[in-house]
Amino acid sequence: MTDLAGIVAAIADEMRWEGQRGVVASYIPPLAAVPADKFGLALVMADGAVHLAGDADEPFSVQSISKVFALTLALGAVGDQLWARVGREPSGTAFNSIVQLETEHGIPRNPFINAGAIVVCDVLLGRLRPREAIGQMLRFVRELAGDDAIVIDDDVARAEQETGFRNRALANYMRSFGNLNGEVERVLGTYFHFCALAMSCRQLALAGRYLMNGGAVDGHRIVTENRARRINALMMSCGHYDNSGDFAYRIGLPGKSGVGGGILAIAPGIASIAVWSPGLNAAGNSQLGQLALERLAQRTGWSVFEPRMP
Ligand code: GLU
Repeated sequence: MTDLAGIVAAIADEMRWEGQRGVVASYIPPLAAVPADKFGLALVMADGAVHLAGDADEPFSVQSISKVFALTLALGAVGDQLWARVGREPSGTAFNSIVQLETEHGIPRNPFINAGAIVVCDVLLGRLRPREAIGQMLRFVRELAGDDAIVIDDDVARAEQETGFRNRALANYMRSFGNLNGEVERVLGTYFHFCALAMSCRQLALAGRYLMNGGAVDGHRIVTENRARRINALMMSCGHYDNSGDFAYRIGLPGKSGVGGGILAIAPGIASIAVWSPGLNAAGNSQLGQLALERLAQRTGWSVFEPRMP
């Protein structure tokens, strides 16, 4: 039997000594203040067992990982109609890139790049006011994680509001193509609050259980089995910006990263995994987070390409 507790502890220990820790994001000022030596790892298993190491209970800014939860809510609201306004292809470009929007007429490549997530927020605001959409998101992640202590970090949301010039450009540009219905500041305000969700690795791994379990948690259905499979497929193909192919190659599991240094990864039927280390690689993904997941996948044999996966 695999000694998961031992593997998790060993990986966390190895990460403490890693010299190449990446660079902490600085374009959102409060993120720049997070110490680069933080490292947390949490595994929540299909049978409910939990394995934690390092700073697994310390909340951090989930940033783009919230795009998974926003997509889930938007699909719940409008179903496949969403795909008229956002694609399902890897972008091969940076998380905040604008270049493809010109040739692709304001339709973002996928819901996991900033432009795509901004459209997803706009879709949610078709039925809700910003305050309601933010409340819905907070209730959703609290319910998924079974933890009412999860909050949105207002300082981070405010800092993004003050510095989010790129996101403002993306939103305005998409609006010029008719792919944004709401007022830009309202849509972005909602988007920034989603990004500013603060969660620990434990909370994030618990929140990811529905994607590990074919859409249900403790007998409670969150999404259909088919939808869970498809969200996982998008995480696999688009979850790491222009690093998505490399992540699939090295780790072989669906995952979604955020510039706060977190990654949520799913071993379907086996485990929901969250890792956090604030230093990022050149593509904006956690340097040690990816390395830790690579070692975890190697030592456990978990991969969606593994013939013996359940
Ligand atoms: N809030 C960040 C932004 O909009 C999210 C980016 C990320 O986590 O990749 O720039």
